[in-house]
Order: sequence, then structure tokens, then C-alpha cells
Amino acid sequence: MRMTVLASGSKGNSTVISSSKTCVLVDAGLSCRELMKRMAGAGEDPSRLDAILITHEHQDHVAGLGVLARKLGIPVYFTEPTHRAWVRMLTPRTTMSYAQWMDHVQREKEARANAVAAASGEPEPGICDSMSAAVEASSATPCDEDDAEEMEPVKAAPKKPDPTYLPAVEYFHSGRQFSIGDIEITPFTIPHDATDPCGFVFASEGVRMAVATDLGYMPPNVKAALKRIDVLLLESNHDLEMLKDGPYPWSVKQRVLSRVGHLSNLATAEFLEHDYDGTATYIVLGHLSESNNAPELARLAAEQALMNHPSLLGNRILLAEQLAPLSPITL
Ligand SMILES: [Zn+2]
Ligand SMILES: [Zn+2]
Repeated sequence: MRMTVLASGSKGNSTVISSSKTCVLVDAGLSCRELMKRMAGAGEDPSRLDAILITHEHQDHVAGLGVLARKLGIPVYFTEPTHRAWVRMLTPRTTMSYAQWMDHVQREKEARANAVAAASGEPEPGICDSMSAAVEASSATPCDEDDAEEMEPVKAAPKKPDPTYLPAVEYFHSGRQFSIGDIEITPFTIPHDATDPCGFVFASEGVRMAVATDLGYMPPNVKAALKRIDVLLLESNHDLEMLKDGPYPWSVKQRVLSRVGHLSNLATAEFLEHDYDGTATYIVLGHLSESNNAPELARLAAEQALMNHPSLLGNRILLAEQLAPLSPITL
């Protein structure tokens, strides 16, 4: 099995996982063009990809999704709520501003008054005005079409290709194992401020690899999912001091620190020291913040945690990068 981290961080995440027969992409958080470039640079063949799997709908995980899936003609695996959230994100709003709404109401009123005037011209004094207005309005007269056309600018811009179109969509459920080719995949729920976020464990040919980034903390189900893993891509997002003193507004700092934000170097180190079973040949630290972390701080925290367990010294630590792919990790 092979893991190639193409990008990791708040400006885009994407990782290729492959067995000898099957190849999947986890998240597509860079433009299609950049993803293709990085795959080529890392020796991954995009035409070998069988599917794209999405962890959650944040932009740094889906930025190139639609274009890439359509270009390669491959299915996209989401949970249903994540798919819906993604579609909602890409669907232009058709709501009107208050001024547009008032204008719309005024034009409808005028159309109704015209209809009433036309009806009252008929020699039938007994007919109820509003009734004839309603009859008039319900028939498809050219005037109605004109109205519809006048309303057009308020709605979505004219026909572009549908950005939510995907060649095929498959749904999975967190906690329920499924397979793509000869890779068994177990998605697990993670605590993060998205609709239905998840991490993944991939198993094939006796090797297990996991992707666990974008979590506010390490709940028991994630600790349980990350047992017996050979290659572990694990978040180590921020240094607590750098985040507190850093440039983010207070509200964003609160979000990152919250239980649905991101794992700090300290939280990751605590997991490694107290809950990790030590089986991984490689631990890849990922989703490092560019503003609130330094690669050497993330590495130091993880190494210190592992040093407290001499049996874990065989674990090699790698750092995933935002700007360039990591060399493929093959087991
Ligand atoms: Zn993210
Ligand atoms: Zn996220």
C-alpha cells in the first residue's frame, strides 16, 4: 500500500491512497490543475484514480472537487449530509434584496391593476374585479412572460454548466465499512465544525493506513479507530502559545481551540503519549497552521511524547507540507 500526501494545511488538503489494484484520492482541496500537477510530480498517475472520498465540505478539502471528478469521470464518495452541504455551498442564492423585493411587489400590483382595468372595460357590471383579475393573471398571456423575463436578473445568472454535477455519487455512513476495489475503508466520525465530518482507515494487503485531521479533540471513537495503524496521517495544527499571541481575531482563535476546531501540538502529543498503541511505521503530522505553528515545534512535541515510551522509538515522524507533496510512503 502507498500513501502520498499531495498537500496538507488550511489552504488545501489531498492525499492519494493506493493498493496494487486500487487508487483513491482523499479530499480535493486544491484546484484541479494543481492536483494534477502535484500527482504528476509525486509519480501518481491521475488516470489510475478509481474514486474521490471527501472528509467534510470545508473549502480546503473540496476546492477542486467538481472539476477534478468531471475531468476524470470518477465517482465521489460522501456521507449524504456532506454531499448536501457541498451542493448548498455551490448553489447560487436566488434571494432578493429588500429593494428588489419592493420593486417586484410594485410591478405585480401594477400588472394586477392593468388586468382589472382591462376586465372592467367589458360590458359585464356584475363580474367581480378580483375574480377577473385572477383569471387574467392565471392565463399565460404575453404579459406574464414579459414579467417573468423582467424578473430574470434577480435570479441566478444565465445557464453555466452546473458546478454541482458529478459523474457519480456514492454515499457511505461513518462507522460502516465499505470497499472500493481491494481497499476496505472504515470511516469514523470526528469532532469538527462541519456537517458530518469523518476520518478514514484504509486496509488492504495486510496494511492499514489512516487519515485523521480536522478534529477539535480526540474522542474515544477516534482513539479506537486509530489502533493497529501502519501509516498515520494525524493533525498537529497549532502551537497553543503561537495561536494565543498570533494574528487571528479572537473569534477565530476560539473556533480553532474549541472542541470542534483543530488539534494542537500538545493534544496530539498527549494522544501519542497516553492513547496511541505505537504500531505505526510512519506518523505523518499534518494540517499544520502556517500562522500558528512551526514544523519544528510540531515535530518536537510528537518526538518528546514518543520518547517517553522507548518501545515507540521505531515510529518515524514525517511532516506533511502545504506547498509540495511528500514522497510516497510505501509499505
Ligand atoms: Zn481542513
Ligand atoms: Zn475543516
